[in-house]
Amino acid sequence: MTAQLNPQPPEQAATGAAVRADPLAVLRRVWGYPAFRGPQEAIVRHVIGGGSGLVLMPTGGGKSLCYQVPALCRSGLAVVVSPLIALMQDQVEALRQLGVAAAALHSGLEREEASGVWRQLQAGGLDLLYVSPERLLGGDLLERLAAMPGPQPLALFAIDEAHCVSQWGHDFRPEYIQLAVLADRFPAVPRLALTATADPRTRAEIIERLRLQQGQVFLASFDRPNIRYLLRAKEQASRQLLAFLADHRGEAGIVYARSRSRVDQLSRELQAAGFDAVAYHAGLSGEQRSAALQRFRNEAAVVVVATIAFGMGIDKPDVRFVAHVDLPKSLEAYYQETGRAGRDGLPAVAWMVHGPGDVPQLRRFIDDSEASAEQKRIEHGKLEALIAFSEAAGCRRQVLLRHFGEVLAEPCGNCDGCLEPRLLTDVTVPAQKLLSAVVRTGQRFGAAHVVDVLLGGSTEKIRQFGHQDLSVYGIGRELDREQWRTLVRQLTGLGHLQPVPEGKGGLQLGRPELVRPLLRGETSLELPLPPPRQERRRRGRPASGGPALVEPADGDQQLLQALKAWRREQAQQQGVPPYVVFHDRTLLELAACRPRDLEGLSQVGGIGAAKLERYGEAVLSVLRNQA
Ligand code: ADP
Ligand code: ZN
Repeated sequence: MTAQLNPQPPEQAATGAAVRADPLAVLRRVWGYPAFRGPQEAIVRHVIGGGSGLVLMPTGGGKSLCYQVPALCRSGLAVVVSPLIALMQDQVEALRQLGVAAAALHSGLEREEASGVWRQLQAGGLDLLYVSPERLLGGDLLERLAAMPGPQPLALFAIDEAHCVSQWGHDFRPEYIQLAVLADRFPAVPRLALTATADPRTRAEIIERLRLQQGQVFLASFDRPNIRYLLRAKEQASRQLLAFLADHRGEAGIVYARSRSRVDQLSRELQAAGFDAVAYHAGLSGEQRSAALQRFRNEAAVVVVATIAFGMGIDKPDVRFVAHVDLPKSLEAYYQETGRAGRDGLPAVAWMVHGPGDVPQLRRFIDDSEASAEQKRIEHGKLEALIAFSEAAGCRRQVLLRHFGEVLAEPCGNCDGCLEPRLLTDVTVPAQKLLSAVVRTGQRFGAAHVVDVLLGGSTEKIRQFGHQDLSVYGIGRELDREQWRTLVRQLTGLGHLQPVPEGKGGLQLGRPELVRPLLRGETSLELPLPPPRQERRRRGRPASGGPALVEPADGDQQLLQALKAWRREQAQQQGVPPYVVFHDRTLLELAACRPRDLEGLSQVGGIGAAKLERYGEAVLSVLRNQA
């Protein structure tokens, strides 16, 4: 049998083994959550019944419970394979707070700590053991597990971040392939692989390599309704970023940029603007990186400015925004990076500036890489999908989910496409002017210069090339700069314009079958354009929150702050991140419901038996003091 889940409040202490095996009762008692989410219940019951399988669920979807609940309902030890030591420690810490006997074995442990874990293991005193794949497969751990006494010594194997087994995926780890031995050595023990990567090819590879052919596949919706997708035309990325961040002071977030130098520069700019910003990229020392990570995890409002080196293993639930100042390399990457926002289910924003200037560089990266021709073709295809998403006129979420094979019937109402609907404008004439200007200036300049010419600007470049004498000079004053830039992007997205091969952002005419009829006036073109500048000013900044899930009223704000202060103190005393004590969501609910007694507290999401016992009185006294 597994260790006891104590302490339990007296009224529930009578729950015997039979009740303890009921997953919903375990969820309520241990986690304090009223119900399973999405496919969790089906998965949990399947595993409790002895079944194996693959779980595809977006980041923040609740994968952990899919094996943690069965770990407590089945007898024996549950072994969780995870490649990420930092994440392991968090999970173990969070489980201990819930009164669950959990431990981790990995290379980062001191010898003494490790032998403590061994002793617990031998004594049958553990419910869950987290191990790195090296640790599981190297040494004699497998033998020891096989030799554990009792009729059912092992409850299950969970293989987290299962896409690491796939060479096709982006986080390939050779050790993962050897996990196939679990199927042979422990045929009677259920194996559950879990990943947030939905790509069908990765999926197939996981099933094959981990020998899950007999198992079931559980696919959760990849929609993350609490994330608001806001895409913006890129003008001056750092200034736009600062304007965006002005609405997010005091919040934790991630800013992704492509290069190390840009990360360094942006983090300095953010610091100068008073943000608590830290840089993170592969060029920093291991110490600097773990210090940055540590601060991000343990403090409330740190902004990490990072290259994509920052990512895996970030399971901080209260990341309120993820900002991209450069295009990611694919829609999968975009989805994964933005998925780090709002794992707690509260409103979060995925903000991105993008422009046609990003594209040639990304194309070059692919062309210059070591990959095979086939791989390059695939990468180019992935980039195209991302561009189509960024140029889409309607609901972003519909485009995003369609890419992952899901249909969202109605526009989502929580993206820039839905929130800032743009009227279709007949742009036939402006498009003709734009294409003509591209031709007249020699099909080699970028959008900025072409637009300057159309607007009749007086720049150095215009004088240098004598472009003030062209017939197209100054013929485009009916649109403002932003509108012209949008038109350039859209015509590039549609294929009327294309980047000059090898050119640094230069544009040339695109597909003749589109361009010719347009220039001859045989076809017309309707596209959404942003409103003129004047109107944009009047409208002001769009609200940056998301759907109001639990919005505390003003009076509750004070209480919320008091609860947060109490939580911070608790977390510091125990040396754990604040969310391990209570999630924001739990504090919000406390502030809104103001329970008066332990009974009331136990109704709040995220307060299970162990936390009630441990923190109940202290929370009640915070509530009383703020009454
Ligand atoms: P993933 O590993 O899929 O990214 P997690 O397992 O970390 O996601 O879960 C994300 C968040 O959702 C966690 O804070 C978790 O406690 C919470 N959560 C998961 N399942 C439920 C549920 N049934 N009810 C309430 N909260 C849940
Ligand atoms: Zn939408």
